[in-house]
Amino acid sequence: MTKNDNKGLVLVISSPSGAGKTTICKKLIDQVDGIDLSVSVTTRKKRKDEIDGKHYFFTNKEKFRKLLKENQFLEYANVFGCLYGTLKNEVVSKIDRGTDVIVDIDWQGTRQIAKQLPKDIVKVFILPPSMRELENRLGKRASENKENFKKRMSEAKKEISHYKEYDFVIVNNDLQLAVDQIKLILFSERLRINRHLTLNKTIEKII
Ligand code: 5GP
Repeated sequence: MTKNDNKGLVLVISSPSGAGKTTICKKLIDQVDGIDLSVSVTTRKKRKDEIDGKHYFFTNKEKFRKLLKENQFLEYANVFGCLYGTLKNEVVSKIDRGTDVIVDIDWQGTRQIAKQLPKDIVKVFILPPSMRELENRLGKRASENKENFKKRMSEAKKEISHYKEYDFVIVNNDLQLAVDQIKLILFSERLRINRHLTLNKTIEKII
């Protein structure tokens, strides 16, 4: 059975900012075939090391609202006072073609996608090893000013409080181990019975 006999899935990965989610997602894309990363639209300011169109589509509030009016978002949310949204284009057509899509979004967006694509979503929550470690990681982010840092720490606690809404929780103690654990989840989820589009034909051939 080839990958294209399957419908793609939406692998939602959430975590508080600084738990290593971006690095994990990048490693997954590098190490696994048949998976793509959804690029979100945001009104947040671009950080130094970020590239428009690769990390995010950076835009302003007016243009974001226009996309919203045109019904182009699968979900959107206000996170730390900035707007973030997942484009339908980045997800729906890809899973229909059999490609899995990683979506790095917060708990608010996860709820919305779970409502819209309940059969396609797999929800993974990543925890930092400790709050102290999270502080270290956030403190190291050069672009964060003090006020922003405090805000992100309190948002992190709020984000963590939603872990029970997810299918899987992973503690990012060891980066490659966390990536391997998500791979296990992904490979198992690919085999789920409802994702085999041509299962009847396969069974007919076998028996
Ligand atoms: P950051 O600004 O650090 O890149 O992301 C801040 C938070 O916004 C993270 O928790 C991230 O998962 C979330 N986020 C990024 N893109 C989206 C999106 O398209 N929708 C939603 N709901 N959250 C997003």
